[in-house]
Amino acid sequence: MSYPDTRLFIRGQWRDAADGRTLPVRNPATGQEIGRVAHAGLPDLDAALDAALDAARDGFVVWRETPPAERCRVMRRAAGLLRERAADIAGLLTREQGKPVGEATIEVKAAADIIEWFAEEGMRAYGRVVPSRADPAVRQLVLKDPVGPVAAFTPWNFPINQVVRKLAAALATGCSMLVKAAEETPASPAALVQAFANAGLPDGVLGLVYGDPAQISGHLIAHPTIRKVTFTGSTAVGKRLAALAGSHMKRVTMELGGHAPVIVAEDADLGRAARVLSAAKFRNAGQVCISPTRFLVQRTVAQEFAQALAAHARELKVGDGLQQGTQMGPLANPRRIEAMQQLTRDALEQGATLLAGGKRIGEAGNFWAPTVLGDVPRQARVFNEEPFGPVAAIASFDTLDEAIAEANRLPYGLAGYAFTSSLRNADLLSRRVEVGMLWINMPATPWPELPFGGMKDSGYGSEGGPEALEAYLNVRSVAMNCA
Ligand code: NAD
Repeated sequence: MSYPDTRLFIRGQWRDAADGRTLPVRNPATGQEIGRVAHAGLPDLDAALDAALDAARDGFVVWRETPPAERCRVMRRAAGLLRERAADIAGLLTREQGKPVGEATIEVKAAADIIEWFAEEGMRAYGRVVPSRADPAVRQLVLKDPVGPVAAFTPWNFPINQVVRKLAAALATGCSMLVKAAEETPASPAALVQAFANAGLPDGVLGLVYGDPAQISGHLIAHPTIRKVTFTGSTAVGKRLAALAGSHMKRVTMELGGHAPVIVAEDADLGRAARVLSAAKFRNAGQVCISPTRFLVQRTVAQEFAQALAAHARELKVGDGLQQGTQMGPLANPRRIEAMQQLTRDALEQGATLLAGGKRIGEAGNFWAPTVLGDVPRQARVFNEEPFGPVAAIASFDTLDEAIAEANRLPYGLAGYAFTSSLRNADLLSRRVEVGMLWINMPATPWPELPFGGMKDSGYGSEGGPEALEAYLNVRSVAMNCA
């Protein structure tokens, strides 16, 4: 499939921006322009966005009245189409985002799984009947209604799944959704939207726009049609959007940055820890909000673990994600290369040891060698700022209490990992590490049926499990005297 130009999707139609403006889309493996994306910019802001908002308002009226079983059928059809088209969509995703095509295929198929789980769960968004305290003739109902048209803002690291986690929960509960996906990776979200259109989703229930992120979010969040805002991206932007939503009293879900601590105790199976953590660290070139980033290893085994992790990093085959055998692709954009350069240089200047990588590969494309830094001082930037790239920073600790204090030191609280063979340690860690998701002796399990989300500066609200549906439902009570 050749890489297409991407247009705006409004009321069931693909259309250009009113003034025809477009932005380039580049392949991060080559730096070459591969297509264009329509840009709903200021001159036509109202024409494009207000048409999309009107459509979302009308789509909501239709969709909220659609029985949950019918919503489920449409969603399941869309999931089926995604599976059928997985190879083609994965090719688009890799060309615009860079990840190996095998990872892209997994992303598309996982999206289908998420849609199916939410499609079924939407049929179980029950209310309840509460007996009256005084009068048996009084019926007290607790009703759950879809919150209304939703504005969703999604990033480029998982161009499909970041949309799907929001969209599947919103559609399952009867909400309409207007998505502003990332301009860097527009074609794969468009393919997702096309699958829903082909599955019979009524016009207006789902819209897709691109343009200037701050302009669009400012316009949509303030608009009275929008009743709920959901954002995945950096903590800095998330705080700005949450503040704006707060000033308009809009419901909000924020899935923001993390800086996942990894605690490796001396009683851990070190070989297994290094293998699992290497796969987790370098997946999607480390551009994952739940990527392990701050490695805290008990001093007695720190050297051995660091060498094992570095050996895995050195073995990885880095290259164009479309090429057979590539295990790690380029970073999504040149901003990430700059960030890796700065974080690595700063850590080395502060006394860290370079155990693997530490440099850009080639001149074309955004390739950065899988990097492992040992003996990183706690004040180094990489131990304080989310790297969002293929850099693992290792420091050592003496007692578990010290490791837990260091894990909790930062304002982030998204994901965490621990390796230990002691039940006592595992129990202590599960109670004391301040993260929304903790994985002990295993890789991450972001299954749709489990809550997915953070605490502290990593945001609030969940994008998995029944909790994710609640985020799109208003709860109301109705009492009726039937006597
Ligand atoms: P960024 O903060 O500029 O952008 C992140 C995403 O937010 C992009 O998709 C962008 O289009 C969008 N965005 C930015 N400003 C916005 C606004 N005012 N309104 C609506 N959307 C807006 O950063 P970046 O350079 O693209 O990415 C780097 C940082 O972003 C990383 O360090 C990481 O912390 C964060 N990030 C997090 C996730 C995640 O999964 N939580 C995903 C991508 C990026």
